[in-house]
Amino acid sequence: MECRISKPLRARLTILPADGGWLVRGTLTGEVVLPCNRCAEDAVAELTAAFEEFEELPEQEEGIPVSGGAGPDAAQPPESHIFYEHNAPMLDLAGICWEEFVLALPINPLCGPDCKGLCPQCGANLNVAPCSCSRDEGDPRLAVLRGLRLQG
Ligand SMILES: [Zn+2]
Ligand SMILES: [Zn+2]
Repeated sequence: MECRISKPLRARLTILPADGGWLVRGTLTGEVVLPCNRCAEDAVAELTAAFEEFEELPEQEEGIPVSGGAGPDAAQPPESHIFYEHNAPMLDLAGICWEEFVLALPINPLCGPDCKGLCPQCGANLNVAPCSCSRDEGDPRLAVLRGLRLQG
């Protein structure tokens, strides 16, 4: 995904010890530039996300080497951000921040609420100038689909 960070991302995290794990509370703020969903021009999206996650302390298994040999069966549950280093549980803060960042990204980024998008026929950016294509006959690609459906 094409994504540029235009204002520094800030994450504030509060980590509270809880029964069997940690409670991670935080906020994520910043600004990113994504391609507009309609015209592919720059769409600026402000990020403000608040989250609260419980990170469960995984079972520490004895005698299993930490690195290497981890097949698909040996993988830890992917939702856990706790790992062990020298028998001490560590919290993968970068992993949590990354996950929250991805979740905070807009699903449908638009350069503006009234973006006109691209002409489906000639591809012109209709925000810049209207094109000369006729829109009365509908999208020719949809007409093809309609024809196929009738035959099917
Ligand atoms: Zn746009
Ligand atoms: Zn056009």
